Amino acid sequence: MFHTQVAAVVQDAMVDYLTKKGYYPATPRFENIVAEGQKIVLKGLKHKVMVVVTLGNRGPYCEYDKSLDCDHIKFVKVMPHVKAQKKRLSHNTHRPKPSKRS
Ligand SMILES: [Zn+2]
Repeated sequence: MFHTQVAAVVQDAMVDYLTKKGYYPATPRFENIVAEGQKIVLKGLKHKVMVVVTLGNRGPYCEYDKSLDCDHIKFVKVMPHVKAQKKRLSHNTHRPKPSKRS
């Protein structure tokens, strides 16, 4: 669990760095159509395909590529929407469980 979080932080930092350096595709090749709950639907600008990316506890998962690490995932990960959700998720992890009052 701890190592997973570190990896995610490192990956985010790398994406930010590469974006600033211009190595990362800053121009989206996908159009974000729907972002509802745990599901983001991307429309490919080139190939006119619909790509569904689901957001789970292990991170975004591309149902189109059946992959955790494709271009769609990279695109989704830099969306502010997803970054905000990741913060919420990690915050919830650290929140103590509510004590039962009988
Ligand atoms: Zn994909």
